[in-house]
Amino acid sequence: MTFIVLLLIAVAGFIALAMNRAPLWAWALAVGAFTYLAQSEALNGPGAYAGGTTLLTWLAWLPFAALALLSIPSIRRSAVIEPVFGIVKKILPKVSDTEAQALEAGTVGFDAELFSGTPDWNKLLTIPPIRLTTEERAFLDGPTEQLCRMIDDWQIRHAQREVPEAIWDFVKKNGFLGMLISKEHGGLGFSPQAQSLILGKIASRSPDVVTIVMVPNSLGPGELIEKYGTDAQKHYYLPRLAKGEEVPCFSLTGPTSGSDAATMRDIGYVTRGTYQGKETLGVRLSWEKRYITLGPKATLVGLAFRLFDNDNLLGKGADLGITLALVPADHPGVNIGRRHLPSSAAFPNGPNWGKDVFIPIDWVIGGEAMVGQGWRMLMECLSAGRAISLPSSATAGAKMMLRVTSAYARIRKQFGLPVGRMEGVEEALVRIIETAYVNEAARAMTASMVSRGEKPSVISALMKYQTTEKMRRAVNDAMDIHGGRGICDGPANYLQSAYQMVPVGITVEGANILTRTLITFAQGALRSHPYLYKEVQAAQDTDRDRGLDAFEDAFNNHIAFSVSNVAGAFFHNVTMGAFATAPDNARTMSVWYRQLARASRSYAFVADLTVALLGGGLKTKQKITGRMADALSELYMLAATLKRFEDDGHPEGDEAIVELAARNALHRFQEAMAGTIDNFPAEWVRPLMRLVVFPLGRPFKSAPDELGHRIARRVLEPGETRERLTRDIFISRDVKDPTGLLEVTLEKVVAAEPAEKKLEKAIRDGVVHRYHGVDWFAEAVGKGVITAEEADRLREVEGLVARVIAVDHFDPAELKPNYTSLGHNIRAVEPLAAE
Ligand SMILES: Cc1cc2nc3c(=O)[nH]c(=O)nc-3n(C[C@H](O)[C@H](O)[C@H](O)COP(=O)(O)OP(=O)(O)OC[C@H]3O[C@@H](n4cnc5c(N)ncnc54)[C@H](O)[C@@H]3O)c2cc1C
Repeated sequence: MTFIVLLLIAVAGFIALAMNRAPLWAWALAVGAFTYLAQSEALNGPGAYAGGTTLLTWLAWLPFAALALLSIPSIRRSAVIEPVFGIVKKILPKVSDTEAQALEAGTVGFDAELFSGTPDWNKLLTIPPIRLTTEERAFLDGPTEQLCRMIDDWQIRHAQREVPEAIWDFVKKNGFLGMLISKEHGGLGFSPQAQSLILGKIASRSPDVVTIVMVPNSLGPGELIEKYGTDAQKHYYLPRLAKGEEVPCFSLTGPTSGSDAATMRDIGYVTRGTYQGKETLGVRLSWEKRYITLGPKATLVGLAFRLFDNDNLLGKGADLGITLALVPADHPGVNIGRRHLPSSAAFPNGPNWGKDVFIPIDWVIGGEAMVGQGWRMLMECLSAGRAISLPSSATAGAKMMLRVTSAYARIRKQFGLPVGRMEGVEEALVRIIETAYVNEAARAMTASMVSRGEKPSVISALMKYQTTEKMRRAVNDAMDIHGGRGICDGPANYLQSAYQMVPVGITVEGANILTRTLITFAQGALRSHPYLYKEVQAAQDTDRDRGLDAFEDAFNNHIAFSVSNVAGAFFHNVTMGAFATAPDNARTMSVWYRQLARASRSYAFVADLTVALLGGGLKTKQKITGRMADALSELYMLAATLKRFEDDGHPEGDEAIVELAARNALHRFQEAMAGTIDNFPAEWVRPLMRLVVFPLGRPFKSAPDELGHRIARRVLEPGETRERLTRDIFISRDVKDPTGLLEVTLEKVVAAEPAEKKLEKAIRDGVVHRYHGVDWFAEAVGKGVITAEEADRLREVEGLVARVIAVDHFDPAELKPNYTSLGHNIRAVEPLAAE
């Protein structure tokens, strides 16, 4: 045996030990055996040590000795654990109360599997598929469908610039505003999955109408009352909210506290005052909020403020922290009703403010018991809400973009061809298809997780920014494919409202830049990493001995985890994922599961190093954390994509879409990882990262053109694939509705294609003449090119196509703007600042 062979065996052995997280004594034995064999006469030849052993020979035993000593727990504790514990305690940035509450608020879901580097496929595949009760399904197919039919987007956005009363009445009467309120309290008590699908269907029709339904079913404050309210608040408000007798809004954001909402200047003092003629313990409030959705129409204002009790009337100290209260909009001193104009939206949104307004203490949500708990309450509700509200509308929006754009691209012709058959257009169309499939996959999986009680904080952040960003790109692609038809607004334009409202989804519930760079990875790593948060908590424990014990346990596991990730990632990258795991029944999808497992190992390795080396710098190194968030998102969305294919029963028509999505996801993952490594602040670690993650270069390529071509062809005509890709959105078949006109025309265009081909050839050959004033259909019939029946069909198609491609035009007088006093409005919303 030569030294090289021994070395190779040793490396393989060390990798196996590392991947199996072998205990230190096993490492000591392995290193000892290697040292012994490396120095043996069998390897070095008889008499190799005839001249006696050298210092080097003895030094070579040092690793063995160190490992053997460290495998004795008491020595390891005093030589390693205690010093490291001391350093961590010193350098660890203090986690503020609001940060700790945000971190502890939600639950950890499948994200933890991806951070672990060894995802358990069983955990993925046992997340329930989409399941609705009979009642929920009936509501989706009944009142939701009916509501969608009532909506006239143009009337809402332009003619009335508000959601019509008839729609408000309908949603109130049918319980739309109380979907999340339990049946016990008069609500519909629908599952998050059902809420998500209902919101999505409405969103596919009108971003304004979905907003008025979404807010009461999100932060609300219905959910806050349901979870934390006193019995009296539940009994009084929940039935009223469920029936729409109260219109709620939730006021958190202020002029100086946007993303950094916890720094609000809105303040309350616990004091005694008079309410309804009686002296009452209460709060004197001053606040200034803006951007509050439903505010101008609200009857009940959920309000966040910082509460002080300088006279210790509640016996809980002076600075009580962020507190939430329910304030009736008609309470004296509440200023509310003015409107902002966000992206020309029609849903009500505006500021509200008050100065020295007295409210009784039992208006605090949850009463005295919950004073100061506001931030935790908000964070807990936000994790679930953020996973449902915006992902559902962003998903439905992408499906709608696909539905209308695929039809338009097939109907609209230039250069004698449907524009959708041109490669340039096809490229954009394929991006929309990918988004529609992947967004729906991730939406459904996440909603199922929330339906079974999870409040996934990292996943909800990731879903919020990913689905809305993908939707933004889908809308832009749809606009590009429609050309001028998408740009000129009017009743016939079915793209403009989505295009205008995309920035709202990007900004609300945590603006995307912050959500991507700060929340998903910087907080996510701490939350989803198997040991990190335990170490942080242990280091912050006020009882040093208890902290040290907990730290030792977490740290030992962390080291084994890190070593296992280095070895595992290197091994799977060298073997191209061939030995990575896949579920038994994955069939043709095994290859993507294996690549996902391989990528997850690389991710776990780099994430671990990133956290260890950047530590407190994570909050500021946002170009790194942003890329890590993107990489994690790609893994999550790919897992959801594979699961959707499984849940849908492996439809043959979707196989190519999944392959395309998988290839693109892995390619984007790779680029995000490469960007992280190339720019990693600790330069010395870059070579190690490259060696482990890209030992054979960058293996993943984006999906080939041919695959996209096959997929695009399937959506350019009616069929199962197109239906599946756009399921659960509102689809009109009414030719008076611009989207219904598209559907009907598409079917007729496809049916008339054989006849059309004959006619086109005759026109090209000069047999039939197509000019204004000539009846070319009659001429073609006369010359035997097409039958009279075919001519009728083509004539009908021509009429329909003319309507599909028509663009609205107006009398200039109709378009005169009606803004009269814009200049004065700005000052009016800043009363506190002005005083
Ligand atoms: C139409 C609409 C409806 C809304 N509805 C409500 C509502 O009902 N109730 C309510 O309370 N609020 C509501 N909001 C407020 C919304 O939540 C805030 O707009 C949002 O939190 C961002 O705050 P900001 O607009 O002040 O942006 P800023 O906080 O000023 O942020 C500006 C930019 O800086 C980025 N940024 C900020 N901090 C960081 C950081 N640490 N790291 C990286 N990037 C950062 C942000 O991502 C953003 O891109 C609504 C807003 C809009 C526009």
